[in-house]
Amino acid sequence: MNSAFPHEQIDADVCVVGGGMAGLCAAMASARNGARTVLVHDRPVLGGNASSEVRMWICGAHGEDNKETGLLEEIQLEHCYRNPGGNWSIWDSILYEKAAFQPNLRLLLNATCLDAETSGGRIQCIRAWQLTSQTRFIIAASQYIDCSGDSVLAPPTGADVRSGREASHEFDEDIQPSRADRKTMGNSILIQLRRTDDPQTYIPPVWAYRFDKPEDFPFRMNGVNGTNFWWIELGGIHDTIHDSEYLRDELLKCAYGIWDYIKNRAPQRDEAATWALEWIGSVPGKRENRRYMGPHVLTQNDIRAGGQFDDIVAYGGWTMDDHHPAGLLYPGRPTIFHPAPSPYGIPLRCLHSRNIRNLFFAGRNISVTHAALSSTRVMCTTSILGQAAGTAAALEAAGAFSPDAVRAALRGAGALLETGALTDA
Ligand SMILES: Cc1cc2nc3c(=O)[nH]c(=O)nc-3n(C[C@H](O)[C@H](O)[C@H](O)COP(=O)(O)OP(=O)(O)OC[C@H]3O[C@@H](n4cnc5c(N)ncnc54)[C@H](O)[C@@H]3O)c2cc1C
Repeated sequence: MNSAFPHEQIDADVCVVGGGMAGLCAAMASARNGARTVLVHDRPVLGGNASSEVRMWICGAHGEDNKETGLLEEIQLEHCYRNPGGNWSIWDSILYEKAAFQPNLRLLLNATCLDAETSGGRIQCIRAWQLTSQTRFIIAASQYIDCSGDSVLAPPTGADVRSGREASHEFDEDIQPSRADRKTMGNSILIQLRRTDDPQTYIPPVWAYRFDKPEDFPFRMNGVNGTNFWWIELGGIHDTIHDSEYLRDELLKCAYGIWDYIKNRAPQRDEAATWALEWIGSVPGKRENRRYMGPHVLTQNDIRAGGQFDDIVAYGGWTMDDHHPAGLLYPGRPTIFHPAPSPYGIPLRCLHSRNIRNLFFAGRNISVTHAALSSTRVMCTTSILGQAAGTAAALEAAGAFSPDAVRAALRGAGALLETGALTDA
């Protein structure tokens, strides 16, 4: 990078990389626990897959009486009050103000973490580049939380990670394949539609793929209403990081081609006659790539057993929703919903690195197997994980860290409820 660019050094207690729901909640929790916090996020809007750039809805624990609380609930209540129509810009603005006007928190938008320096098993600093201001940042913190989803701090720090599917015998997980492989769940571009009063025509771009028959979408196409097209998915048989630009191009060809099919050739095209294309995403949402390894690796069997740990700091409760790696190219069902109890406990031991001492993580990159990730990845769960990691990192920076202290702080913030099913072990 050209040294003529201006640079700024920031000293902080906690540095969070990535401002999806996990990173936002981690940064808010850290700042509210008294730590001088920096949030480095490479997009102009917060929320990651839940932002207006990707538009995925936030899901969590199943069950009538189950609801994630804490910071996520604070955000969602504000959203219900101020944004009953579900406008995406208002949603973005709510996430923005939670970070931008939070005391103790410095928000760096459009800033990409590029590198890190490590010595003695600790991260000394990270480097970031802010595209809009052409400024280099060097951020030295006591603690780091990687919420980038892609575990961007792993390559420069040597933190232990794994990716792909474990062999079923490794952790005795019966939903994993018999042999380990590098396959993951894929990336997706979403489509949003608008109902109008008049017939709407659609002419596809010449570069869109052409689909002609229902058999092109087995188990996927159920009309224009009631889907956000999450199944426009590719990349699990590629590398969802290094091939992501290629995958974006392919997903765009599929998305425009699918709308062309619905409007112009599908058996249900009459039903779609007055529907217009409102939006097609340009930033594919990612589901899976590198997972950090912590002192414990959460497995399918931990989930099935209800997650009985003495250092529970978060709860999951989504089914194990394991997408086929080939996505749209797979002619069978695009996902299998393997049952999981709701709620189940997730321990603090899955949120910090086993070999880099000042590295926490939260989001889809925590220490879980592929099978367990298929449940823990939903964003109510990742938000709670973020709040837990941010709280833990702030306490560690203040020299007050212990699993009990983290749990007490989370209970105080309303994020950790004890239930009859999940009592202390
Ligand atoms: C199409 C699709 C459908 C899904 N359906 C659902 C659903 O219905 N409900 C649900 O709850 N979940 C759903 N999921 C899963 C969920 O969206 C993800 O698991 C979740 O977003 C992971 O959260 P995260 O905060 O770890 O990552 P992300 O949401 O990906 O956020 C990470 C952020 O970090 C930023 N970042 C990355 N690298 C850097 C860097 N170097 N420097 C700075 N910032 C960086 C990224 O821009 C990104 O915004 C779906 C996922 C996809 C792709």
